[in-house]
Amino acid sequence: MKCRKCGREASVKLKHYNLSLCEEHFYEFFEGRVKKAINKFKMFSKGDRIIVAVSGGKDSMVAWYILHRLGYNPDALFIRLGSGKVIDETQEMLKSFAESIGSRLVVEDATNYLYGLSTFEAARILRKPACSFCGMVKRYLLNKVAFEKGYDVLVTGHNLDDEASQLLGNILHWQKGYILRNWPVLEKTHEKLVKKAKPLVLNYEDDIKLYAKMRGIPFLSEVCPFSFGATSKVYKKLLEELESEQRGVVLSFYLGYLREKKEFFKTDDKAVKLNSCKVCGYPTTSEMCYFCRSRESLKKRLERKKGASQGVIR
Ligand code: AMP
Ligand code: ZN
Ligand code: ZN
Repeated sequence: MKCRKCGREASVKLKHYNLSLCEEHFYEFFEGRVKKAINKFKMFSKGDRIIVAVSGGKDSMVAWYILHRLGYNPDALFIRLGSGKVIDETQEMLKSFAESIGSRLVVEDATNYLYGLSTFEAARILRKPACSFCGMVKRYLLNKVAFEKGYDVLVTGHNLDDEASQLLGNILHWQKGYILRNWPVLEKTHEKLVKKAKPLVLNYEDDIKLYAKMRGIPFLSEVCPFSFGATSKVYKKLLEELESEQRGVVLSFYLGYLREKKEFFKTDDKAVKLNSCKVCGYPTTSEMCYFCRSRESLKKRLERKKGASQGVIR
């Protein structure tokens, strides 16, 4: 097996591209795709203050590492969604990685906003699906911290498989709004909304894993123990099956969307109007944001519970 670029002995075979490469040319190929996404979608430039949302999983670790490698000087942000050994160990791992590359890690504890509860416990009390509730808390806090600390761009580790499976789900249910809005870069559309960017959208998940392993980047294999039933996983599995029959189909599906979106899905230019939440001031389409409403309702339920356990009759 020879490297297609230089003819030396290849060390990897990228099945999605039917491409054999030596170590050096694999790095060049992989990082080239990240650079392409950053430039094509004007995600950020060298002068911007960038913060990468890191969960400890391979995608966000690789995003953090590559932006550092490419000279963007990013900091990283970890949201603690609960407490316990796994979360402590994740934080420890992130901290030592930050030290090893000379980057700064910012940590925010979600339980401080949820009366000491984890997102999982809070979702149970609120009778909300754990994944979507947790996702909402994550998005809210990532934006809030990035905004308050003055960052220009918040980067996430979403990869090609994430974006393509989400697109498939949105098309199956004809969620036009999501189809239009879920773009590799999301501009600032409210004074308290930080610009978002996903520099790994052109990279397959398998290749990200390979890159992390070859570069010796530490990561945790299963970041969220509660995501096993998530619908997004069903679409991901379907696309994996398709990909095994038709090499490259996931990439061409997603690239087609990036190319054709404008023509197929016309924006009516009535962009969703964002108000400011009357409690926290962050963007919302209603009067009070979902985060503040959840907090309010959680507080009520906890007080009721406390009252009941103390035998108070109301
Ligand atoms: P997920 O929604 O779990 O697939 O994660 C998507 C992206 O959100 C990841 O690639 C990270 O960039 C970010 N993310 C997920 N969990 C956390 C967390 N606990 N703290 C900070 N960022 C996170
Ligand atoms: Zn080579
Ligand atoms: Zn609010």
